[in-house]
Amino acid sequence: MNSVVDALIERLGENEIVMGDKLHERATSYWNPAPTQALLLLRPRSTEEISDILKICHAHDQHVVVQGGLTGMVEGQVSGEQDVIISLERMNAIEAIDPIGGTATVQSGAVLQTFQETLEQDGLLFPLDLGARGSCTIGGNIATNAGGINVLRYGMMRDLVLGLEAVMADGTIISSMNRMLKNNAGYDLKQLFIGTEGTLGVVTKAVVKVFPQPRSRHSAMVAMENFDQLTGFLNRLRVELAGELSAFEVMWGNYFHAVTAPGWHRAPMSRDYPYYVMLEAEGTQVEEDAAKFNRVMEGAFEEGLIVDAVIPKSETERRALWDIRENFEALLERPPFYLYDVSLVIPDMQAYVDRLTANLKARWPNSECIVLGHIADGNLHLFVCPGEPGDWHYESDSIVYPLLQEYGGSVSAEHGIGIEKLDWLGYSRTEAEITLMKQLKNSLDPKGILNNGRVVRA
Ligand SMILES: Cc1cc2nc3c(=O)[nH]c(=O)nc-3n(C[C@H](O)[C@H](O)[C@H](O)COP(=O)(O)OP(=O)(O)OC[C@H]3O[C@@H](n4cnc5c(N)ncnc54)[C@H](O)[C@@H]3O)c2cc1C
Repeated sequence: MNSVVDALIERLGENEIVMGDKLHERATSYWNPAPTQALLLLRPRSTEEISDILKICHAHDQHVVVQGGLTGMVEGQVSGEQDVIISLERMNAIEAIDPIGGTATVQSGAVLQTFQETLEQDGLLFPLDLGARGSCTIGGNIATNAGGINVLRYGMMRDLVLGLEAVMADGTIISSMNRMLKNNAGYDLKQLFIGTEGTLGVVTKAVVKVFPQPRSRHSAMVAMENFDQLTGFLNRLRVELAGELSAFEVMWGNYFHAVTAPGWHRAPMSRDYPYYVMLEAEGTQVEEDAAKFNRVMEGAFEEGLIVDAVIPKSETERRALWDIRENFEALLERPPFYLYDVSLVIPDMQAYVDRLTANLKARWPNSECIVLGHIADGNLHLFVCPGEPGDWHYESDSIVYPLLQEYGGSVSAEHGIGIEKLDWLGYSRTEAEITLMKQLKNSLDPKGILNNGRVVRA
């Protein structure tokens, strides 16, 4: 045994520690079924325990990796053999719900879907929503500043957090549990821990905004013939459903075609359109909202902004449409593939996709660039499938990112930098910005204890 392990066992007791075979039974991440590698995994029950763990690790110069639901896309949660893991899985309580103040206080290990469903019983909505809802945690959502399908109406996680508590690398507890919308008393310290991927502190709990559940919800899947129709339709919805449009998820034809191939999702309309959109509006007036939604859809047809549409008649039908957008297992059958999460202004999107597809074809003639995205947020997800066996990840990155830089895009819209994109941060951030990030890391965690080697090389 080494001394840091002894000290952690002495402080926590063996019940809160997973090591050896038990540790190897756990998968590395949602994406990687290989056994977890680490010195040991700790399952603390309180902020004070996390503080003590970090004090011990700090004293022993021990690297720590923080884990939530393990669904992160950039390997930030993946540990190495010599790391100590802090898992938030036992800190999952919903501590308070305040319908009048419009807030809830929740521990970081709470699973997003459990939190959403608990609030729903009280007629409340936590609007952050994403395909990984059944596994990802509130702490992981905060650490990655998660986005998802309702950003255009409610914003990203950063917009939904009012206050939080975090433990810094040396064990200091920062309690910034603000519950008010307005609080300009000095620096807004919670921002240090939102979207910083666990590099500056372990988020232990948060106060988040909650909203009344909408009384009406109207959904449709529609198809278009060209990108101008797509942007014209989005603009039309922004005007006519102002404030009610909650989702506008675009699937390029090649995505829709792949996920509705025989054996996968049932296609609710022709599989040959160039663009499909899953859209949703949420309102408060049951009858008026239905009439308005139908009027807007009919108007869009008459003006030629959409060429086909399916409106679900039940929750089961609605879920089946969403599954086409959210469940892309069909794509996992085409290894190797590389998933990108880029942002661009909407007018540049189609030109970027066309040039990227041409560049990929020039390198790999059988390649495909399969596209979908939260385009109203300027966010595209690209599946680059080279169509040839081999490890082409770096070469694929070298085609995707330099072209993106020409358009002033970002190498990460919502998944973060983690380990995977370290080499590409400079394509979206200036030298001065990266220097300031390193200074922050060095001053808050000079020993590089927490999630070392993520986001920036400090
Ligand atoms: C099917 C699928 C769909 C997805 N869709 C979206 C989407 O639409 N939008 C989107 O933004 N993301 C999406 N993701 C990515 C992922 O779900 C999010 O990044 C999520 O927020 C990660 O949460 P987690 O609890 O799984 O975190 P983990 O994967 O465990 O960790 C992610 C990062 O956060 C750090 N971290 C975790 N918990 C804490 C904590 N308490 N304190 C400090 N650091 C912490 C980890 O160290 C790591 O760096 C999707 C993932 C999947 C699998």
